[in-house]
Amino acid sequence: MTQPVDESKAWFERASVATPGGVNSPVRAFNSVGGTPRFMAAGDGAYLTDVDGNRYVDLVSSWGPMILGHAHPQVVSAARAAASEGLSFGTPTVGEVELAEEIIDRVDPVEQVRLVNSGTEATMSAIRLARGFTERSKIIKFAGCYHGHVDALLAQAGSGVATLGLPASPGVTGAQAEDTIVLPYNDIEAVRQTFADAPDTIAAIITEAAAGNMGAVAPDPDFNAALRDIAHEHGALLIMDEVMTGFRVSRSGWFGLERVAGDLYTFGKVMSGGLPAAAFGGRADVMARLAPTGPVYQAGTLSGNPVAVAAGLATLRAADESVYRALDANSQRLGALLGEALTAEGVPHNVAYAGNLVSVFFREEPVRNFHDAAAARTDCFPPFFHALLERGVYAPPSAFEAWFVNAAMDDDAFEAIEAALPFAARAAAQVVQA
Ligand code: PLP
Repeated sequence: MTQPVDESKAWFERASVATPGGVNSPVRAFNSVGGTPRFMAAGDGAYLTDVDGNRYVDLVSSWGPMILGHAHPQVVSAARAAASEGLSFGTPTVGEVELAEEIIDRVDPVEQVRLVNSGTEATMSAIRLARGFTERSKIIKFAGCYHGHVDALLAQAGSGVATLGLPASPGVTGAQAEDTIVLPYNDIEAVRQTFADAPDTIAAIITEAAAGNMGAVAPDPDFNAALRDIAHEHGALLIMDEVMTGFRVSRSGWFGLERVAGDLYTFGKVMSGGLPAAAFGGRADVMARLAPTGPVYQAGTLSGNPVAVAAGLATLRAADESVYRALDANSQRLGALLGEALTAEGVPHNVAYAGNLVSVFFREEPVRNFHDAAAARTDCFPPFFHALLERGVYAPPSAFEAWFVNAAMDDDAFEAIEAALPFAARAAAQVVQA
């Protein structure tokens, strides 16, 4: 059992005075699971240590970026070296070119890249570019897919929006929402029908290359290819959001697993090494419409920041085939342990994968879309989560999130998970039996 969390409690009270909800991103507040968010003080490899000195096996990995584990020596030393040369210049730098080239080398359909600061900025810029390129206004997105907190993309988003049970968000105007068409994930007929009903108005379909923000929900085998074909038939673009999957589920992200080419891509998380960096890219003829070569404006004071770029580049360079093998193996090992513990306690569940993203749904039927995910027994999740947390296993504090393994997980980490899971499964079973 972990020790008391008095320091975290005290800091959370203080944070709640200074910051709305005490956090800088809603899911960190533990609203859907209750209890005290842990204030983390340090990370090393597969572990996090909180301000009370409790140590946790980390199954969040900063929501995806830390595929190598925390404080990886090559990444830390690259960031340190870059920082010692100066923190920001507002000019082109060599590292930006190298990072763009590394991304282009890994993901074939990406011919050019523009660096930004967050995944949100990447998707916002990609839809602006798609609209500018096609001279059309409407965007199709899928319920339960999260593309950051871009106004137009918040409608029926997964992740924190789903966790808090928000339908969309106040502050998003009718005009912004009007141009967003939300369809069920994995429903290709709905996409076909929508294009038939509104020809020549849809600029792009944006989809998570594999959904990770309603839990892990892989696309049906033909879904992404059909999206590409329908979009192209109608002169629209396909935007593959690989912010979560990119450089995590394979060296080339989801594209490496399925090889369905999008016209535009968005990236973040892994390619940042844990610092604020993200990117969008794709077909050169589309990217050429961006300022300064084209009229679609997009910019950023800190875009391509040299320290962030150095951390991202060091992460990608260290992420060789052995790292991807470890991520795949660790995800399978985690999923098997989750399944065994819940089966032993008779808790209805299904362990779902999208590449090496893994999550657990408290229902037996497969989950193909957000409707299915929301129909699971999400009330089992809070006690399940807390039983793990108290035993030093830090799972994502939401039933609608994927679990992120990292390559630093060792046998000790898995032994801690294996020891904690029976208690968590029993806590979930008590909810089912109540
Ligand atoms: N797109 C996807 C698929 C994501 O999972 C996220 C964040 O989780 C984003 C976009 C937004 O990225 P950021 O949080 O860096 O703005």
